Formats: sequence, C-alpha cells, structure tokens
Amino acid sequence: MAKYVYTFGNGKAEGKADMKNLLGGKGANLAEMNLIGVPVPPGFTITTEACTIYTEQGKEAVSSVIKEEVESAVALIEELTGTVFGDKNNPCLVSVRSGARVSMPGMMDTVLNLGLNDLAVQGIAKKSGNERFAWDSYRRFVQMYGDVVLGMKPESKEDIDPFEEIMEKLKEEKGIELDTDFTTADLKLLVIQFKEAVLRTTGKSFPDDPWEQLWGAIYAVFDSWMNDRAIYYRKMNNFPAEWGTAVNVQAMVFGNMGVTSATGVAFTRDAATGEDLFNGEYLINAQGEDVVAGIRTPQQITLEGSRRWAALTGVSEEERKASFPSLEETMPSLYEQLMKVQENLEAHYKDMQDLEFTIQEGKLWLLQTRNGKRTGAAMVKIAVDMLEQGIIDEKTALLRIEPNKLDELLHPVFDAQAIKNSTVLAKGLPASPGAATGQIIFFADEAKKYENTILVRIETSPEDLEGMNVARGILTARGGMTSHAAVVARGMGKCCVSGAGAVKIDYKARTMDAGGKTFKEGEWISLNGSTGEVYEGRVQTRTPDMGGDFGKIMDLADKFTRMSVRTNADTPNDARVARGFGAKGIGLCRTEHMFFEGERIKAMREMILSSSKKDREKALAKLLPYQRSDFEGIFEAMEGFGVTVRLLDPPLHEFVPHQQATQKELAQEMGISLEMVKIKIAELEEFNPMLGHRGCRLGISYPEITAMQARAIIEAALNLKARGIDARPEIMVPLVGTFAELKNQADVIRATAEQVFQERGERIDYLLGTMIEIPRAALTADHIAKEADFFSFGTNDLTQMTLGYSRDDAGKFLPDYLNNGILKQDPFQVLDRNGVGQLVKMGVEKGRSTKPELKVGICGEHGGEPSSVEFFDSVGLNYVSCSPYRVPIARVAAAQANIKNNR
Ligand code: ADP
Ligand code: MG
Ligand code: MG
Repeated sequence: MAKYVYTFGNGKAEGKADMKNLLGGKGANLAEMNLIGVPVPPGFTITTEACTIYTEQGKEAVSSVIKEEVESAVALIEELTGTVFGDKNNPCLVSVRSGARVSMPGMMDTVLNLGLNDLAVQGIAKKSGNERFAWDSYRRFVQMYGDVVLGMKPESKEDIDPFEEIMEKLKEEKGIELDTDFTTADLKLLVIQFKEAVLRTTGKSFPDDPWEQLWGAIYAVFDSWMNDRAIYYRKMNNFPAEWGTAVNVQAMVFGNMGVTSATGVAFTRDAATGEDLFNGEYLINAQGEDVVAGIRTPQQITLEGSRRWAALTGVSEEERKASFPSLEETMPSLYEQLMKVQENLEAHYKDMQDLEFTIQEGKLWLLQTRNGKRTGAAMVKIAVDMLEQGIIDEKTALLRIEPNKLDELLHPVFDAQAIKNSTVLAKGLPASPGAATGQIIFFADEAKKYENTILVRIETSPEDLEGMNVARGILTARGGMTSHAAVVARGMGKCCVSGAGAVKIDYKARTMDAGGKTFKEGEWISLNGSTGEVYEGRVQTRTPDMGGDFGKIMDLADKFTRMSVRTNADTPNDARVARGFGAKGIGLCRTEHMFFEGERIKAMREMILSSSKKDREKALAKLLPYQRSDFEGIFEAMEGFGVTVRLLDPPLHEFVPHQQATQKELAQEMGISLEMVKIKIAELEEFNPMLGHRGCRLGISYPEITAMQARAIIEAALNLKARGIDARPEIMVPLVGTFAELKNQADVIRATAEQVFQERGERIDYLLGTMIEIPRAALTADHIAKEADFFSFGTNDLTQMTLGYSRDDAGKFLPDYLNNGILKQDPFQVLDRNGVGQLVKMGVEKGRSTKPELKVGICGEHGGEPSSVEFFDSVGLNYVSCSPYRVPIARVAAAQANIKNNR
C-alpha cells in the first residue's frame, strides 16, 4: 500500500534528505536533521503525492487514503512529547507548515500553536506556570488560523488585516507600542474580539475541535499550492504545477516563554557577499515569524555581526549593548550550541545553510535547514571558498554555479567618483548588493509605471513579489537582513536596502521623507545594496571587475568544457566586449546591420532599386569599401579566432524607405521619377517576407551581391595578413534548404576568392559553410555537407519553421499556449528538444556521416540558454554562440553540460 505520511522525531526518521520530491525540502531536511543528531521537535510529513490527489480528486479522496496514517503519526508525536492532542490539561500543540521540493519564500503561510481552545489554553497556562505565554500563543493561533485557513487575510493592499486592526485599536487605547506590552488581560480580550471577527466575517464560529483545526490547516496548505502567488512564483521559475507541496505537522516549541526563550534565523555564511561568517538575527521572547515580519527590530546573533550592524545603522556601542545585544552576549552557552549545530549542518550538507531555530527555556531546537539562497556574488565566492577549503571538489564547485545568476556580476556598479558627489538621503541595511537607479513607486502593482522603478515600502509581503521582480531595486523602512524584502531580493539577485528607519513613508500622500526632503512618486533615487546607502537622484554607474573569484570559476569552466563558446557580434566593439568575457570567436556576424548607417544605406538602396546588373554592380562597388573596413575591424578584434560572417539575409524590402520625403530624395539621387521608386518598392512587397525572397535566394537572384561580400571578406583578411594579423574568416550562406542552393553560392564565393588571390598574388585560408535553419536542410544534411566546411544551426528560424510559428506574431498566442500547458516553455527561449532538437541531432549525425570532421555550432538565441546548451553538448556540437553578455553564462553552462553528460 502506498505510504503518504513519514514521521520523524527523537533521532529517528522515515524520510531523508534526498527525498525532497516526495517530502518537500523542509520535510526531507527535518528528517535528515533527526538522523544526524540535531535536536528537532517530532512531527510528520504528508507527501506531495497526497497534495496531487487533493488537487486532482478533492478532499474525500485524499482523506480516505491519509486519515489513518495521520492519526497514528499524531499518536507518535503525543508519545514523544508526553502530551495528548485535544486534552484540556496536557494538550499537544503543533505547527502546520507547507514545503515544496524547492523553497518558495513566503509562498505559503504557517499556522503555529494549533490545538488550542478555551480549555486547552488554561491547561497550557497551568502546566507552564505562565498565563501570559498561554494567551499570547492562543491569540497568535486564532489570528494565523483566521488569516491562513479561514481566508481572512485581506486580498488587496489597501485593506488592513482585521486582526491587526483590532490590535492597533487596543494599543492606541492603552497607549502602548509593542505586542510584548500587552498584558494577559489584554490578550484574553483580543482572543474574544478575534473570534467575534471570525464569526462576523465568515459566518461561522472559530473551530474549537483540534481535529477539525488540523484537517482545516492541512487542506489549506494543499490549497495554497494553487494560490496566485504560488502560481506566479512557479511561472517565474519554470516550475511545473504537478510537483505539489508537502505538509509538515510538527510539535510546537516555544520561543515566547519569557526571557530564557528566543527564536531566530541564521546563515552559515553571508548570503549577500559570501563571506565565511556565521550570521543571523534573533528575538528574545518571540515566536516564529516575528523575526522576519519586521514587527520588532531583530538583534544579531554574533557579537561581530552585532557591532557591524550598529556601525551601519549608527547605533552607539552603549546603546547596542543595552538595547540590541547579540545572542553571543545574552545566552553564551546556547550560542556555543548553535555554533556547533551550524558547523555540523554545513559540514553535512557541504553547502551554505539557512536555518531556523527556537530556544525554549534554555533548550535549543532546530526547525528548518536548507541550502541558503544567495546573490550571484555570494554564489561565486562560496563555491570558490568551499573548493579552497577542501569541502567540495572542482566539479562540484562548478556545478554550484547557477549560470543565469552570473548575469548579476556582469552589470554596472556605481562609479566611485559619482558616489562622492552624491547626497546620501538615508542609510539602511545592505540587504542585497548591486546598484539601482530609478523612479520612486510605493505600490508593487505599479512597478511598471516607469521604465526604471525603485519600490519603496515600509515593508514588503508576498503579495509584492511580482512588483519586486519588475522594479530595479527595493527600499524598505522596516525589517532586518532576513526580512521578506531582503530574502526575496537576494533570491532574485535584485538590489535591496532594508530597514532604512530614517525614511518616512506616507502611502496615502504617495510621498517619502528622507534627508530632510520630501520625495514624490516618480522622483529619482539610487540605492547601493552593498552599503545600504540611499542617494538622491540618478547616480552614474560603471562596468564591474571580472577577476578574482569570478575569474577562478571561468578557469574551471575552461578546464571542464568540451564545447567552446563564441559570440554573436556585428561590430568590433561587441567583439571586444565578448572577447573580454572569454568568447573564442564569432559564431554569427550579421552583415545587414552594416548597411544602415549614413552613406551606406543610400548605396544599398541604389543597389536594390537598380534595374540592370550593371547599375547594381556600380552601387555594390560603393558598398565594398565599407564592408571591407567593417570586416577588418571585426577580424582584428577577434584575432586568432574564427569569425563566421553570414551573407546578406533579410528581404530587401527592409532596406527601402517608406516615407514619401525619403523616397523623393532617393529618386533625385538616382535620377529617376518618384513614381518609378514607388513602383519598385511596391514590387518588393511580400505576403510572407520571412518565407520569401531572402537568404541565399537573394544571392541566387543577384550573384553580384554574394560576390561583393565574398570579395570584401577575403580582401579584409588579406589586408590584415599584410599587417601580420591572423584573420580567420568563415563565410556562411544563409537559409539553404537544398544542396543545389549551397552549390550555386559556393561556386560564386570560391570563384571570387580565387580571383582576389590572383589579383593580390597571395592566398589565405578560409572556410565555407552554411546555416541549417530550414527543416529540409537538416533532413538532407548528408548531401549538403559535401559542399560545407561547417554547419551553424540557426535555431531561431529553425524553431519558427519547424513549429510553423511566426517569430514576430507568436506573442499573440504563446501566452495562451503556456497558460493552458500546451507548451511547457517558450520554444524561442528554451530549445524544443523533442521537435527542433531532433532535427539538430539528425543534422549533426547526417552531416558527419559525410564529413566526420565537420565543425558544427549553433548561433540562435538558444546558444546562451543553459538547458539548451546542455542539449547541444549531448548531440556533439563543437561550439555555441550567444550575445556578448551571455558568454560567461554559456561558458559555465557548457562546462556543466560536459560534466553532467559524462556522468
Ligand atoms: P516559512 O516557509 O515561511 O519559513 P515555516 O514553516 O518555516 O514557514 O515557519 C514559519 C516560522 O514558524 C518559522 O520561524 C519557524 O521556525 C516557526 N515554526 C514552524 N514550526 C514551528 C514549531 N513546531 N515550533 C516553533 N516554531 C515553529
Ligand atoms: Mg511563510
Ligand atoms: Mg521557514
């Protein structure tokens, strides 16, 4: 019989760390921590498979398969804790927590203290001898249960949480500020008022029966898998809905039992910078989410961290010691224990851990551990440090790099000089590094209001996720390094300054006061997420350094890669940038971009509108010097590496003027009538330009175009050779579908090259190849290879033609396809392995059946997309080519692919 519930507790567990798909990350690690001797309150995990049954077949179906297992697992908690679920004297209290296979920050809410009711609260009060604690727990439970399970949490940001409203009112009446200032009597009153609010809003009384509470919470966790936030997060990360979430039910431990109790979160290394320094935040006499919710200012765990924090926030040493002491100072022996546990956990998992702990009356409990989210910079530093510390090997270090996250390291930082001349408005915590400049907005759903926005909030919540993703940076007035804003921003690699207390925000007026000034929505500010500084206006940025740990990772990538990485570049400047990022050649140099500037476009238009071959040749002669010097620049920038030049590809219609005034000018220059120009332009019009007169079809109609381009390429290379520069041209014919097409163009190119060699009395090596971007070319690749030294898969067109989706129009229907699950991913972003991929594989195999040494690469957008790169490695391509800024990403992806494909 299938098993849906896995128990853990007292050093035993039915699950373990590698069962994340079934138990979720949280559940699998709770089990694992038990197995390695870390103190964890007992509990059980309901599997993700149960969630899927719930989603697909409903409550009854899932209940019938898990009910008995849940009941006996609760019995085990009772046994291990010596309590009884639902008992009025000695009640067993639990938390109900969600946990998918990957952590989804703030996606699904936890219910603590479940099992309390009007009788049990008295039992707890008596047993603990702490009445206030009992009622504080009860108050929290009714609130969390009301919000999460009974759906009372407001949907829109304008509405206030009904429970918060009640608490605020009582605070005002009593003239107190903090939750901790409530007396027992206040808490009793709050519970009564909360329950009234529940009855008022839902029309039902708050459930007193613990079993009813438990099942309600379990189903709520299942439901939360399909809520909007979860769906958005999955989309953003390409996670499928089929995964489902597990449910963890766990005996409560209490951090709110007085001054010998506390709760906190910690990281075994710095998640922002990667520094090898244990750090974290805690609060005395608090429960669970208090630390991350930004209700009280959390304190630092280590003394060193505490001193750094004080320096950053301008708190004096006396004030720090008196009001914000570290755990190292307040509870030295527990600090020692926590230190040991964190060392154990990191050594066991061999990766930076993000952990949650609670201290109940002097006893330490761990409630969660997971591989911590980190910035791109921290990711690189931690991987290199752990390698150098002998914790992991080279391959593991390389596999720790999430290629796309390197992007963060390639982008601008603030210019030091510009910083000096800027006004600091406020200082908060350096929650997530980076430089961001943008216009102020106060509401996450308005993040697209301007092109560059900075989201300014008192604090953020999971509802803000989408807007946070769109904004350039995030500034919060409240909350610490582990606040929602900070954690989520680090995960996204987004610049964030949190807890800038000096910033006063007025949501109603849409203004922010800082540095003695009032800023309105739409005004510019800049954030430095590495120092916590907030600047007035737009601060200038510059490109970052590429050496250090980043360089070490790139060296590792080169060591383990089989494929090389080229770039798609049309200008010497792009070529140089890409070379700086480690590109070994150009996989695609598009020549059409060279025809647009200044005088060139005129000559180009003349050529297009010419009615005789002779006139065309005259116009082409004008273009020749431009092309030649462009090629010289590019070949020189890529000295020693191959440069694949693609001959003219787009339909000619794209080059002609569409405005009357320009048409007139052109007519004058060419000495023909405006009418004539108009007629010629109309003739070029096509119904399906992408399937029309373009690519090699142009060269076949007008071989003189091909000849001019071939001449420009060969002459450029010879000119460089004369200067002692090693140029390696590779001439590529686009849009070939048949052997005869390529043969036709190859003859023109070879003849032209021979002619130039004779004129100059000097030769040079060059390659001649073709793009494979029409399905028929892949199907007949064995034939085509006879005339080609190389193939380059143009996966953009190949995808367009294989699926029959116009690239320019797919935006209209692709979203529907993705939403309906007809496509799992956008095939223009992630290669369609089963369809287009088969053609690529076949093209390689057939091509090499004719020419075993055939060089094969890919130059479509997919060349910089890590999962597609893995596929290209598996089918044996020689190289991938991508845009300059994606070169480092592709280098790491290519090396990882080789490691993975050889395992
Ligand atoms: P999230 O996924 O949002 O972090 P968690 O399930 O980890 O949610 O729980 C939220 C908070 O409640 C955390 O601080 C966690 O440590 C605390 N918590 C969860 N279960 C318990 C428990 N059984 N006893 C004490 N605290 C708990
Ligand atoms: Mg949560
Ligand atoms: Mg947690």
